[in-house]
Amino acid sequence: MVSMAIPSINRPISAVIDTKAFRHNLNRIRELAPESKVWSVIKAKGYGHTLEAALQGLGATDGFALLDIADAQWLRDHDWNGRILLLEGLFHQAELERAVALGCDMVVHSEKQVAWLESYANHAGHSINIFLKLNSGMNRLGFRPEQYRNAFHVLHSAGYRLHHMTHFANADQVDRYPSVGEQVDCFEQAIQGLEAATSLGNSAAILWHRNYLGDWIRPGIMLYGVSPTGVFADIVRSDLQAVMTLNSEIIDIQHLKKGEHVGYGGRFEAPEDMKIGVIACGYADGYPRQASDGTPVWVQSAGGDGGVICPVAGQVSMDMITIDLRGAPQAMIGSKVELWGNEVPVDDVAHMSGTIGYELICALTARVPVAVT
Ligand SMILES: *Cc1c(COP(=O)(O)O)cnc(C)c1O
Repeated sequence: MVSMAIPSINRPISAVIDTKAFRHNLNRIRELAPESKVWSVIKAKGYGHTLEAALQGLGATDGFALLDIADAQWLRDHDWNGRILLLEGLFHQAELERAVALGCDMVVHSEKQVAWLESYANHAGHSINIFLKLNSGMNRLGFRPEQYRNAFHVLHSAGYRLHHMTHFANADQVDRYPSVGEQVDCFEQAIQGLEAATSLGNSAAILWHRNYLGDWIRPGIMLYGVSPTGVFADIVRSDLQAVMTLNSEIIDIQHLKKGEHVGYGGRFEAPEDMKIGVIACGYADGYPRQASDGTPVWVQSAGGDGGVICPVAGQVSMDMITIDLRGAPQAMIGSKVELWGNEVPVDDVAHMSGTIGYELICALTARVPVAVT
């Protein structure tokens, strides 16, 4: 029997990942932080964009930072010979040999990890780059300042190559504790006299606190053209491009009479006779169920050039959303729509759904076909 590929005539939904936009955003980061080397953060499968696309679009990075050793393996299997940083280091001692075999740099944030590396020092320890993580006030991972220096000395004596690292809790906010300035003060004090390269800046710091980036920056969200604050207006002048576009089509149109309701719970009530567009995209695709009426959806014009924003009207369901077509009288079955991307910032969809863009791009589900262009 010859097995044949089934042509993909299926639901019209798809995500398109634009590797040109990846290249553009990485170049923007280099312009903003010309002195720093770049760890491109691709945890959560490149924030939902796939490792394939990240590798294709971000090949000019200095290194990839991720969580799962299996993803490091994937990069090596696909001929990435550059640096890889395990952002949370080892989860189990048993991963150590594999991490070394893959040539990974690793974060060390706990005494347990220090002990594993100490006991490994006679093996291949000399060739491992360690990013030692200081808890400078975020209180998630890392050594407190009083433990940090000891951990540094232990690993240094064991022959590892050390770097100083910390992570900002509020680089995207003002008037929050701890501030970037407070965390930097803590960092500078903790590392005083300990010679090593540094790594501090995340996307928000690269955009708004460029005095404190360090030798290695760790941009994530801005690589994907999404705002660290959750508000698109905050990056609208930063010249970043959306990398992911979520596309679909109108699969049906309903003609409502004034006073009729739409969907589960009848949340939307037609204020006049009007048309409702039904789109092949629902929460089982990763579109947020929390999206409120008014969430923007872009509908392409009949001629194909340009389009208009139409608001979500009615509760998002598993496989469909419904939109108010009063602004798009020409829309028909088969009209193309964009759920997010260049026409509709994912930040705006997130904002209308009580979350941030980070969550939506990571949450695209497996049933959505992804095309890398
Ligand atoms: C996720 C992560 C980053 C990237 O943060 P963005 O806000 O996406 O730029 C940087 N550093 C660490 C330690 C992270 O976990």
